[in-house]
Amino acid sequence: MILQIKNLSIYIDDRIVLDSINLDVKKGSTTLLLGKNGAGKSTILKSVIGFRFSKFFGDIFFENEKISDLKINEIANRGVFLQFQNPPEIEGVGFLKFLKTAYDENFEFEKKRFEILVKNKKILTNRLDEEKTRFKKFLNITEFKKFCIEEIKRFDLPIDFFGRSLNEGFSGGEKKVSELIQMIILRPKFVMMDEPDSGLDVDMRKKFLSVLRKMKKEFDTTFLIVSHYMDFSLQLLPDKVFVIENGKNFLEGEKDLIKKISSVGFENL
Ligand code: ADP
Ligand code: MG
Repeated sequence: MILQIKNLSIYIDDRIVLDSINLDVKKGSTTLLLGKNGAGKSTILKSVIGFRFSKFFGDIFFENEKISDLKINEIANRGVFLQFQNPPEIEGVGFLKFLKTAYDENFEFEKKRFEILVKNKKILTNRLDEEKTRFKKFLNITEFKKFCIEEIKRFDLPIDFFGRSLNEGFSGGEKKVSELIQMIILRPKFVMMDEPDSGLDVDMRKKFLSVLRKMKKEFDTTFLIVSHYMDFSLQLLPDKVFVIENGKNFLEGEKDLIKKISSVGFENL
């Protein structure tokens, strides 16, 4: 399991929002989180990436390491990525500069982690090669831009964002592309997406699905996705589906469960 949520309970303003949630995500899988509006789906994703609520019980483990005490940047550095439902517009922060800063911070983190593992002889010799390939090469800004352009082209996405500020004045669709570009450059191990299907036109939806498939194939990326549309949920080819209701685990299943929700709705499950 890449992610394990154990008995997670969260109160906001003394109201229980998550009530003993348990959720496991298998490495390399696509897992869906479904449920009515206000069920607690976004709160689950936010708590994984490191939003901390005043009353928080339970534990969250990423690759068997407890992350529920860590800060957002520490969690992101371990390879966790949250695609926002409404990505913020950040005036004055260039898109390329932003990408490079995130890439470098992760590079430094991986480098230190790798050195500590080697020093403590914690890496089994047969895993050394695997660790080395994950360990990215430091790139100067020119090399980095070249790397970005090659990757973006390879994934068939537009490359005209570099001269612009992060998400500033981007259309809804462009914001989604901006997040896809961040994903393919930073190559997180674990991607959480909060309603990525909202505001996608047919062509963007196709592109989106093809980027996801390519990331899974090439980088073995694991996805945890909140979705509202059952046909899109089916197109994601999920390995596992969790339904959340009133902040509680309600049902677990596979693709058939989506078909059922699609025909009877959440109310009559
Ligand atoms: P979902 O994503 O499933 O629609 P959320 O996780 O966003 O649901 O919200 C779950 C519940 O928690 C809702 O009732 C929502 O109003 C409440 N909630 C979430 N965040 C806050 C907050 N910052 N302040 C007050 N209530 C909140
Ligand atoms: Mg939500």
